[in-house]
Amino acid sequence: MKPTLTAAMVKEQAKAMGADLCGIASMDRFEGTPKQFDPRYIFPKAKSCIVLGFRIPRGYFRGIEEGTFFAGYAGMGYGNINQIVSPLSLRYLCCYIEDFGWEAAPVPNIYLGNAVKFDTQQLAPEYSVPVREGLPNPDVLVDYRVCAYLAGLGQIGYSKVFLTPEFGPFQRFVILLTDAPLEPDPIFEGQLCDRCMRCARACTGGAISTTETESITVAGRKIEWGKLDVIKCSNAYMGAHKEYNPFLPNGIEPEILNEAGYHGGKAYEKYEGNWTGYGSVQGHNPPIEGARGCMRECYAHLEERGVLTRNFHNRFREKGQKPWVISDEWREKYTQQIQKEITGVVDNDE
Ligand code: SF4
Repeated sequence: MKPTLTAAMVKEQAKAMGADLCGIASMDRFEGTPKQFDPRYIFPKAKSCIVLGFRIPRGYFRGIEEGTFFAGYAGMGYGNINQIVSPLSLRYLCCYIEDFGWEAAPVPNIYLGNAVKFDTQQLAPEYSVPVREGLPNPDVLVDYRVCAYLAGLGQIGYSKVFLTPEFGPFQRFVILLTDAPLEPDPIFEGQLCDRCMRCARACTGGAISTTETESITVAGRKIEWGKLDVIKCSNAYMGAHKEYNPFLPNGIEPEILNEAGYHGGKAYEKYEGNWTGYGSVQGHNPPIEGARGCMRECYAHLEERGVLTRNFHNRFREKGQKPWVISDEWREKYTQQIQKEITGVVDNDE
């Protein structure tokens, strides 16, 4: 006779299998979710949504914060967590739960829905059709942030990035749906985000509006965040802004930087060779900008306010320290200096 599977047992296993955070939402909390985003269509008999959080260690951002080493976050902080670390933990936890006779359906963080358009989130019938009348189009696009909120792990910040008391904005999520009836966690009632707008002001793409917001209502609660321009976000993320991308060549044409495109500006298309090695894991484009506003600026702010429960011996960013920006003047000066040095070496050789 197998013992009864409890929420405490699931959480203990999740942590032993590599997750840093684990919360549980009951499926009734998804009442009101638009059909295309409702995880109940993935597993109609599910009783529990288990959310696993994987921290992005603070040190992954260090090189980008200093402006001297960009491969750390690109290589380890994005695709590595989504495509290698979290799927392994998901698999082990699925097997653990199924050993108790309950089905466990993983929803890994490696897909874009394949049914809705990236920029508008509107259904794209050219991508897929429902297999039966009344069903959503495959694949249902689960919102991990909403799941994490319903599982009591924290709150969605003004930046639309999820904030937890442990790691601030530094984590990624996956979920697992199971028919095991597990005790749900209470919804987080704290207030980590104080609407300081530092995320919006520091966003290199200007992608977060300081005046317009978007909101949803889940589990009877309204959640609001700043309106996000996903194309601006995507372009900035891919390094399309020369002030924040040291790998862009001097004299890059302004129209290339300004021209937006799906998942990356024209700058990336043209100059990807300069930082192509920074693609984190297959399928992921290089996050060369290092989440300057929505993650790093926000983390520095939460740390300054002393609202995080995990503290370090040293601050992420010293108080008053300004993040780096590459000015046109500096690029020009540096280029001239180097050309002079190179010319000097050549002259000496002669
Ligand atoms: S920086 Fe963080 S705390 Fe401040 S508004 Fe943005 S999400 Fe909220």
